Amino acid sequence: MPATLTAPRTAPASSVTSGALSVEDLSNGERKIALYASDMPGSYSYRRGDGPQLMAWIIQGAARLGLEELYRSAAYDHSYRVLSLANLATDEQARAHRARFVNSRRLNRAGSAATITGLGQGAVPYSAAAVARSKRPLVEGTCHCGSTGWFEVCFDPDDATANASQNCPAHNPTGHLPGPSVSVVA
Ligand SMILES: [Zn+2]
Repeated sequence: MPATLTAPRTAPASSVTSGALSVEDLSNGERKIALYASDMPGSYSYRRGDGPQLMAWIIQGAARLGLEELYRSAAYDHSYRVLSLANLATDEQARAHRARFVNSRRLNRAGSAATITGLGQGAVPYSAAAVARSKRPLVEGTCHCGSTGWFEVCFDPDDATANASQNCPAHNPTGHLPGPSVSVVA
């Protein structure tokens, strides 16, 4: 029995096709979470020709979770990852991530397998809607930025003028949100 998300299953585990859903409709992150929730063996590693099996697992996992939960979990995972990579994840966020994805090895394997579906010959492209969704920030737990997209960085605890505003990699990855008012002294 593979580790699955803690979310309740909304479809029978035997479901392999899910109405009109196609893998193309899912972002890389969503394919990853679908694989995590699927019957993909925990020891799985890709072999040439596995494409159709991967697709079937992705559809299976998506059907198990339901699209809403799949989208949400993928967004949580993505936002946590960018915060974690920037060393900005809080303990609260780390706990929430571990509770949601109890098997980190499986999550990593699912991520590698998902990426394969978008690469090389037989790659399944990502629909525009899937790409747009993949940029949606969703943070489980309070963020350093308080969801404003910006937070203060203190470079020198003895010098308040050495503070700077940094954009949050989860809520504001491109720094495009209106920033806090910054006075520039020439
Ligand atoms: Zn943030």
